[in-house]
Amino acid sequence: RELKVDLGERSYPIYIGEGILDGLAATLAKHGIGVKSPLLVVTDENVAKHYLTKVTELLEADGYRVANAVVAPGEKSKSLSVMEEIITVALEAGLDRNSAVIALGGGVVGDLAGFVAASYMRGVRFVQIPTTILAHDSSVGGKVAVNHRLAKNVIGAFHQPEFVLYDIATLKSLPDRVVREGLSELVKEGFIMDREFVEWCDANASRLLALDSAALEHALYIGCGVKAKVVSADEKEGGLRAVLNLGHTIGHALEAVAGYDELHHGEAIAIGMVGAALLSAKLGNPPSIAEETERILRQFGLPVRIPAHFDTDAIMSAMMHDKKFKEGKMVFIVPTAIGQVEINPNVPSEWVREIVDRLK
Ligand code: NAD
Ligand code: ZN
Repeated sequence: RELKVDLGERSYPIYIGEGILDGLAATLAKHGIGVKSPLLVVTDENVAKHYLTKVTELLEADGYRVANAVVAPGEKSKSLSVMEEIITVALEAGLDRNSAVIALGGGVVGDLAGFVAASYMRGVRFVQIPTTILAHDSSVGGKVAVNHRLAKNVIGAFHQPEFVLYDIATLKSLPDRVVREGLSELVKEGFIMDREFVEWCDANASRLLALDSAALEHALYIGCGVKAKVVSADEKEGGLRAVLNLGHTIGHALEAVAGYDELHHGEAIAIGMVGAALLSAKLGNPPSIAEETERILRQFGLPVRIPAHFDTDAIMSAMMHDKKFKEGKMVFIVPTAIGQVEINPNVPSEWVREIVDRLK
């Protein structure tokens, strides 16, 4: 299956299918990435264990020279120091302006490798091979970044890939918890603009959790489609792209307050989506939106309540530091129905506090 991110001259395809990694070399060639200059594959230790040898052999069999940089798994690798190490590998391997950087992994690897590609020699070509469900979001759209000690994703760029190659087969090795949090963001795409997809996810939750190939392929096709549509309409976050942040205002604050590994991103977002739906009810929309949101997320084994020991003041102050806040009012992405959201810039912060308390 194929989707397109429509950015005029810089448009690119998203290929989705089972086993399509086998055709990687041919796909590179089709996109004008030839064998003359070396390639750099960036991945993490978990992903490397399963797929790095395969990818390297596939490419070398077609005459490509391939260097690789394997980073430690996890958010800590999205740093300038890790980036510098990767650039050392790139220089030593002789990567030049005609080289390409291939991100093989989840959102961490995609963001990191993408920023390396955006920066190395002022920008080389970039290919995304996402291997998590959450990466349907991070691999499409061209936002690439590393973190600063004081804030996430603040050192970055927009750098669109040449193509995205999503091989469903690579998802089979994902740990269960990573599957669930990825599904949280995937259902989110439905909550934003596709009621039919929410209903489909609801009916197919057990197939998705069991990593059924046909179910995953369909869901990622729809999920990438939503992301591609939003990015095509709003490449640099002028407005529409903000809707993708459904659940993220409360979610990010929970992540900031949570202890290490206590809440994964997708889990925090699940709680945040329930919070946004409760706010929606307070704004006069039907309470059934919150009930449905909660019921569906529970089906995926996702948390829908804030752990009781989280401090409301700490959550609120984390939210105030978030860029979406101004003068007693907060900007919230609020569902107005299942499959429909609005950007509401006038949500009183006291209401948000009330919802946070109610979520505990
Ligand atoms: P991740 O890349 O850390 O992957 C999650 C875990 O799964 C890691 O331990 C990883 O090693 C492991 N893993 C990945 N693929 C695997 C596979 N196929 N088999 C076995 N294990 C595998 O996390 P993620 O959830 O994919 O991405 C999170 C990151 O994405 C965050 O840094 C976030 O900021 C970023 N993000 C970026 C955008 C964007 O638009 N650029 C959007 C959303 C999220
Ligand atoms: Zn997210």
